[in-house]
Amino acid sequence: MYKMQALINGQLIERKEVVEILNPTSLTIAGVVPALSAEDIKNAYQAAKNAQKSWEHLQLLERIKILNQWRDLIWKNKEELATIIMHEVAKAYKDALSEVERTIEYIDYTFQEAMRLEPMALTGAGMGVKNKYGIFERVAKGVGLAISPFNYPINLALAKIAPALVMGNTLVFKPATAGSLIGAKLGQLAHEAQIPAGVFNVVTGRGRDIGDDLTNNPHLNFISFTGSTKTGQHILQTASTKDVVLELGGKDPAIVLDDLKLDFYANEIISGAFSYSGQRCTAIKRVITTDAIADKIVPILKEKVEKLKVGTPQDNAQITPMIDQVSADFVLELIQDAKKQGAEIVTGDRHEKNLLWPTLIDHVTPAMKIAWEEPFGPVLPVLRINDLDQMIKVANDSNYGLQASIYTQNLNQAIHIAKTLEVGTININGKSQRGPDSFPFLGIKDSGVGAQGIHETLLSVTRLKGIVINY
Ligand code: NAD
Repeated sequence: MYKMQALINGQLIERKEVVEILNPTSLTIAGVVPALSAEDIKNAYQAAKNAQKSWEHLQLLERIKILNQWRDLIWKNKEELATIIMHEVAKAYKDALSEVERTIEYIDYTFQEAMRLEPMALTGAGMGVKNKYGIFERVAKGVGLAISPFNYPINLALAKIAPALVMGNTLVFKPATAGSLIGAKLGQLAHEAQIPAGVFNVVTGRGRDIGDDLTNNPHLNFISFTGSTKTGQHILQTASTKDVVLELGGKDPAIVLDDLKLDFYANEIISGAFSYSGQRCTAIKRVITTDAIADKIVPILKEKVEKLKVGTPQDNAQITPMIDQVSADFVLELIQDAKKQGAEIVTGDRHEKNLLWPTLIDHVTPAMKIAWEEPFGPVLPVLRINDLDQMIKVANDSNYGLQASIYTQNLNQAIHIAKTLEVGTININGKSQRGPDSFPFLGIKDSGVGAQGIHETLLSVTRLKGIVINY
């Protein structure tokens, strides 16, 4: 059992009150983290505030040098980090390890990109303007709050932390409850790497208990949040700062328009829908296609779904237990509702506690909940719609607008449809996904506010500051 500490002002701290983190596979306690109080949260912000100016005044290269000591420790401990992820969020070990490795690549790329953020030097122009030079550089916003979700507990955390710190901000970091062990481990490694006191603070506790203390603090300048739309909207309404980036839920459609490469399309759809048991914001969460194509692709999807290995993360199964029973029950309810309303279960609809077998549902109609709710689990509905305009309407008739994918060998048609889809990114002949990390990543409507990605995140944690010389 892991007994982890929080990190405030350079001190690793324990508290008598703890939050127990359940291992979703064994359903035993994986570890504990301190349940911090409102006073602890205040102290974390005070420490971040006190540390910010001197951290910002270091040169970029000095900050990179210090942060690289931390990065090297993360690399050195990658197997242990992957093991914690496996126990804590039931992610297959090989996927957990690849998450850690991808995160290291993200950090390296972020530091390189930070060095490329040149200031703008401008000559003043305009009617009557003369003898003016302007220099506009990107400076830190100050003290930030990073809140991450359970599903990529190291990647989505460091994708916020690395850009914020390298640009001279200081941070209070709140990992998801399931994800706190790995979050606390990052704090421990930051402590070992001698990141200056107060620059990086890890606070633990249940979001619903300390959430409002976290989002309402006079020292707070900006928030970067990834999680559900419900929590994101709460933050938007109650946070003391309006400088907020939100990455929220999705209901990404896969629109199949021809039957020319069905096996390839099906592979993309299966991997898009069921990787990490569908617990991904960009998971394919519905297929929209015609009757004629559905008749051909559904049997192929069925065969591939039935080949997915269901089991434990230790065995590198593709389908592992869902994060908790409440989330599993929600998916089961959506399946029941679809069944009751006449949808056809092609395969799946079986479970043992929070382990759900991958489920494919055909003949889903837009009236069924599964057609528009985000299940965040291993279930894929197929909607049969024969008219192209109607397909686009159904795809757009969603509160979410994260990503979409289109499958066709007619590129003109794909581009035409891409232009009409109300989402952040459209993938032609490939599953929806976050990444490559060098691409901007964003959701519209209820899927997000602002943009992420290596370059965009560096912009989002900085603001322009101008110095104008009159000569
Ligand atoms: P969640 O909203 O339950 O929790 C996210 C974080 O918010 C956790 O750290 C939690 O402790 C914290 N939190 C809870 N209540 C809070 C409050 N009142 N104030 C401040 N913080 C609070 O989400 P989750 O279950 O961890 O993650 C799944 C969701 O995240 C899905 O909806 C998924 O689509 C979304 N997600 C989006 C992206 C993206 O990039 N768009 C990526 C991954 C996950």
